Amino acid sequence: MQQLGHFINGSQVSGQSGRTSAVYNPASGAQRLELAMADASDTRQAIEAAAAAFPDWSKTPAVVRARYLFRFKALLEERRDEMAELIAREHGKVLSDARGEITRGLEVVEFACGIPHLQKGEFSLNVGRGVDANSLMQPLGVCAGISPFNFPAMVPMWMFPIAIACGNTFIMKPSEKDPSAPMLMAELLAEAGLPDGVFNVVNGAREAVDVLLTDPQIQAVSFVGSTPIAEHIYATAAAHGKRCQALGGAKNHMMVMPDADPEQVVSSLMGAAYGSAGERCMSISVAVCVGEQVADNLVGQLKDAIGRMTIGPGTADPEPDMGPLVTQEHRDRVAAYIELGAEEGAELVVDGRQHEVSRREAGYFLGPSLFDRVTPQMRIYQEEIFGPVLVVVRAESFDEALALINRHEYGNGTAIFTRDGDTARQFEENVQAGMVGVNVPIPVPMAFHSFGGWKRSLFGPLHMHGPDGVRFFSRMKTVTRRWPTGLRNSADFSMPTMQ
Ligand code: NAD
Repeated sequence: MQQLGHFINGSQVSGQSGRTSAVYNPASGAQRLELAMADASDTRQAIEAAAAAFPDWSKTPAVVRARYLFRFKALLEERRDEMAELIAREHGKVLSDARGEITRGLEVVEFACGIPHLQKGEFSLNVGRGVDANSLMQPLGVCAGISPFNFPAMVPMWMFPIAIACGNTFIMKPSEKDPSAPMLMAELLAEAGLPDGVFNVVNGAREAVDVLLTDPQIQAVSFVGSTPIAEHIYATAAAHGKRCQALGGAKNHMMVMPDADPEQVVSSLMGAAYGSAGERCMSISVAVCVGEQVADNLVGQLKDAIGRMTIGPGTADPEPDMGPLVTQEHRDRVAAYIELGAEEGAELVVDGRQHEVSRREAGYFLGPSLFDRVTPQMRIYQEEIFGPVLVVVRAESFDEALALINRHEYGNGTAIFTRDGDTARQFEENVQAGMVGVNVPIPVPMAFHSFGGWKRSLFGPLHMHGPDGVRFFSRMKTVTRRWPTGLRNSADFSMPTMQ
């Protein structure tokens, strides 16, 4: 069995803990890897390496830091297909989807390559007579990233390219379910010439994370995962004096107005609900139809479209529309929600458990499911299922549909489908979610904007990547300066104001 260790101080190490965890191929159920699980001492070794690399790295000019990222980008582009295959074999998603997440991650690397411009700071001449002021953007020190299973390449790339471009050193703690892509990224950064210790990977779970959250040398923690863990990460990191951004779960609603283009709605919803087997934080899991007729038509069309979907291993040729779920446990959890929804009285229009693929002996497959006449009181409406399950809720008016979205505890992404500009504008202004699509079902912001939700989908004020990412990984210092030729005042005992 292939072993996978950690990446500390420029090379792969097997770690001291002696504990391991199995990584599976969800399409076959076969074990792929034996993964080392870091204990406190392994994690501290990575922190020491990152702390030792910081003084020199933080003084390395931003243009030089950016050049390492340019080289990393070129190397990852050369190995994109290899990485996509690693992702498909550990996560289960189809190859084109895996390539897509690498591209979205690379866009953050491209953004981070502009760090000399992004970190210029601010300057004001003559804030008072003969007095100038400027703000410096300085690195924080050792920073950490903790990522979920569902985007093993893209989410780490939301974090480390900006962190290291800003002059920090970094420790990545990937999901223990699909750790190979971040380990390959560590190899490629080393091949790009990045100095040892600037980027490290510690594999493991809670034991490693506990050290990252409490060790005084860690200055900032960037987290993406489920809401209960995000809340714990944010509270613990803050209690230990660290800055933290912790992105959590979602229940993304798409509002469908009577004037929306029906074909566009169906094709958008199919991809947004069932792409990547619904294991995306920006998946649409609730369709809110305004009007009975809209709902009746949509449910009929979705049922037909689901019947045409192909499901199979993510690496199969021809490529299927959807692969398996990530683990047996997660597959069973999603299947239990289908049972629950039927018990709660929702109308189960398509039951993914009955799909022939769900009866395969090997692999964690579950067909797509569709529920109609779901109400806000049901748990299948309230809770994040994180699988190929779409629920349809019926509302009588735009106001009722908007109020429903705004009452939900999550506020990650949302979308409206309409041809009416006035309705769309009302939605944009009044909906309580961090990312909004107008006839765009998955409004994931580009790398030069920032990504983040509202309400219990994000703990902390700063979103990921884009301008917020640079702010998160930099500390501002403002200098006010006067030279001896400037004004010479006698001592002033009142609050200084500029004249
Ligand atoms: P998860 O919360 O189980 O795990 C995320 C990370 O936290 C992993 O690295 C894991 O090892 C670690 N972890 C788990 N339990 C821990 C504990 N008790 N203490 C310390 N660390 C712990 O999430 P997941 O199942 O890997 O990912 C799916 C979740 O991530 C979904 O809820 C999804 O919505 C969310 N997600 C959100 C976004 C977003 O941008 N808001 C993006 C992707 C995924």
